[in-house]
Amino acid sequence: MTAPAITDQAGPSPRPVRVRIAPSPTGYFHVGGARTALYNWAFARQHGGVFVLRIEDTDTERNKEEWVQGILDALRWIGAEWDEGPYRQSERRALYDESVDRLWAAGALYACDCTREAVLARTKDNPTPGYDGHCRERGLERGPGRALRFAVPDDGVTVVHDLVRGDVEFSNSTIEDFVIVKSNGDPLFVLAVVIDDRDMAISHVIRAEEHLPTTPKAVLLWGALNETGPAVDLPAFAHLPVLVNAKRQKISKRRDRVALEDYEADGYLPEAMANYLSLLGWSPPGGEELFSLDDLVREFRLENVNHSPAFFDNQKLLHFNGLYIRSLTPEEFTRRARAWAAAVHHPLGIELYSSPQWRELAPLVAERVATLADVPAYVEFLFGDSFEIEPASYEKAIAKDAEAGAILSEMRSRLGAVSAWAAEVLKSELEAIAEAHGRKLGKTQAPVRVATLGRTVGLPLFESLEVLGRDETLRRLDAVLAAVS
Ligand code: GLU
Repeated sequence: MTAPAITDQAGPSPRPVRVRIAPSPTGYFHVGGARTALYNWAFARQHGGVFVLRIEDTDTERNKEEWVQGILDALRWIGAEWDEGPYRQSERRALYDESVDRLWAAGALYACDCTREAVLARTKDNPTPGYDGHCRERGLERGPGRALRFAVPDDGVTVVHDLVRGDVEFSNSTIEDFVIVKSNGDPLFVLAVVIDDRDMAISHVIRAEEHLPTTPKAVLLWGALNETGPAVDLPAFAHLPVLVNAKRQKISKRRDRVALEDYEADGYLPEAMANYLSLLGWSPPGGEELFSLDDLVREFRLENVNHSPAFFDNQKLLHFNGLYIRSLTPEEFTRRARAWAAAVHHPLGIELYSSPQWRELAPLVAERVATLADVPAYVEFLFGDSFEIEPASYEKAIAKDAEAGAILSEMRSRLGAVSAWAAEVLKSELEAIAEAHGRKLGKTQAPVRVATLGRTVGLPLFESLEVLGRDETLRRLDAVLAAVS
C-alpha cells in the first residue's frame, strides 16, 4: 500500500508524509521533546505517513549511549513509537563528506583559518554579530586546522514558509557565513540535518521554535545542494511554541522538572502525560481538554498550532493525572500501582497489591490520589509491623485534645464488644460517643483515626478499620491508651 499524498499543507507539491524527530543524546528526554514527538507521530499517523527517529549524536563529547536508550524508552512510554530508525548521524559521515566535496567544488564554501579570538577582536564593535567574511576572498585551500564556511549571499532575503508562523523573512545580510565543517574536519549539525532530511525525503520538519533561527541557513544550504546535485523539494516547516514555566521563563533542566523519566518515576500515567503535553500549543476544534491519542491522530492540524509560548502547568498536569487514575478499572489501577511500586522498589513491597485488603480499599484509594506515588501513604496503615503514628498528627489530634483520652478509651471498650466488625457498626459506635460528648463527628473521629491509622488525613476511617480488623485495631488503641495515661 502506498501512503496517501498530502494536499492540505503548504509545500511545493503533494508528497508522501515523512516526518522525523532528531533528538541529541546529551541528557534525559524532556517534556518538550515528547510534545514534539507526539505531534510528529500524530501527523504521520493521520496521513498514513512515516515517523522517523534519528539520533543526532555528532557531538561525541556530550553524547552517551545510555541517553540513547533513554530516548527509546521515553518514546515507547508516551506512546509515540517511531516507524523507521533509529538512524544515527555518527554512522552517516560518508554522506556528509561527499556533500561537502560537492559544495566545495561548486564554490559554495571557503576555507577559514581565523581563530575565535581573532574574530571576536575584529568584530566586537560591529552592529551585527557574527563572522565578518575575513577569509572569503583569501582563496585558502582546504586542509587541517581550517574550517569550511558557507558563503551566504550579501543581498536578498531568505524566506522560511512556516505552517505555524506564516512566512518568516530573514535578510541575508544578517546571516553570517556559517561554519559547516569544523577545523578538525567534523561536519556540524546544521549540515548533517540538511543532508539527512534530504536523504530521508522528509516532507515536514516539525520541531521546537528554538531551531527557527538556523532554518534560513538550512534553506540556503538546501538551495546550494539542489544546484550542485539532484534537486530535492524543501520540506514544509512548522516550529512549535516554546514551553514556559509559571514565571514565563523557558523551561529548562536547571530550574524545572523536565525529564519524562522523572514523571514516570513520580507516578504519572503515560496517557495523562500524552494528553497534557498535546495541549501545549494545540487544542482540538471542539475545545475539549481530555482526549486520547486516537483523538489526537484524528483531529491534530499543524495549522491550528499556535505560536505564543505554552505554559507547562504542573498543577494542571497533576489534576489530569488524577482524572486519568480515576478512569481506570480497579484491576487496571491495581496493575499500574503495582508496576510503579516494583519499578521504584518501594519499601512497602508489591505483595500488598495482591492482598484481599487492597482489593477492598483500592476504589477508595483511587478516588483520592493524584499520582501512583501517592498510593502507598494511603495503605501503609495496613502493615502492622511498619505502623507508626505521624508525630505532627499525634500532637494535633491527641496531645492537644483534652478529651482524646476519654474518647479513645470509650471507643476501645465499645469496639471490644461489638458483635459485627463492619464499617456501619463501627460508625454508629463512634456516633454514640460523639453525642455523649457533644462533639461533631469529625472532631470525635480525629483521635481515633490518628491512633489507628497514624495520620489525620487518609481513607475513610470506618471502611479502613473494617479492613484493618478487630485485633489490630484494638491493639493500636491499647498502645495509644497506654501512652496517654
Ligand atoms: N537535535 C535537535 C534537538 O535535539 C533537533 C534538531 C531538528 O529537529 O532539526 O532538539
